[in-house]
Amino acid sequence: RAELIQITTGAKEFDNILEGGIETGSITEIYGEFRSGKSQICHTLCVTCQLPLDQGGGEGKALYIDAEGTFRPQRLLQIAEKYGLNGQDVLDNVAYARAYNTDHQMKLLVEAASMMAETRFALMVVDSSTALYRTDYSGRGELAARQVHLAKFLRGCQKIADEFGIAVVITNQVVAQVDGSAMFNGPQHKPIGGNIIAHASTTRLSVRKGRGEERVIKVVASPCLAEQEARFQITNEGAVD
Ligand code: ATP
Repeated sequence: RAELIQITTGAKEFDNILEGGIETGSITEIYGEFRSGKSQICHTLCVTCQLPLDQGGGEGKALYIDAEGTFRPQRLLQIAEKYGLNGQDVLDNVAYARAYNTDHQMKLLVEAASMMAETRFALMVVDSSTALYRTDYSGRGELAARQVHLAKFLRGCQKIADEFGIAVVITNQVVAQVDGSAMFNGPQHKPIGGNIIAHASTTRLSVRKGRGEERVIKVVASPCLAEQEARFQITNEGAVD
């Protein structure tokens, strides 16, 4: 297994609160509201993971598992330009798989492992990891079954992170939870997947919109990082300072 590598997010303050970047060998969850920038962060990482180690990269390919159809190769080209990388090379180094349902999403991990045994990958993105669970298990009585399936999927992700020394980044949406305090504070937005996701991801980050292009990222849980916030922007060049 490769030693621990940290992949730059493209933004200095963001990297700083992670003490370097997104870590290989574990799962990092990024949760936030609709359009908060989760997919944009993932696109940026698909490019930066290809950089040499001394430039904050992981010297490996990326796999993008797309559950919502939000992958945009064009964005990778724009981000590649910022890093002085050849656009076609960058695209060639990003494997793409659309997941159509939760069973299919699980099966893609098997294919992922066989690809990773062949060539050096540095990153696997699952965007959004929970979207298909919401549609496949929408009934009230299905929550337990959903959590079992999701837990199994996340164990598969962790196994891949361990076996191939890659960073696994999963995105997650939030749902408004209306409880008694909502009257005073507005609804609280909680990530989907509850304890299952909380336990499976080593590092949990929340992202929210600031003013204009500004985004605020926060370390919510980590075994070794302080719970700090950082500001960054989302532009044509992906996540930047
Ligand atoms: P969802 O839950 O809907 O998938 P998300 O958190 O993944 O949302 P993104 O798709 O990553 O959200 O972010 C969308 C936001 O990113 C847009 O609101 C827009 O402000 C910003 N954005 C997207 N492309 C660009 C760009 N080329 N330049 C500047 N900002 C952009």
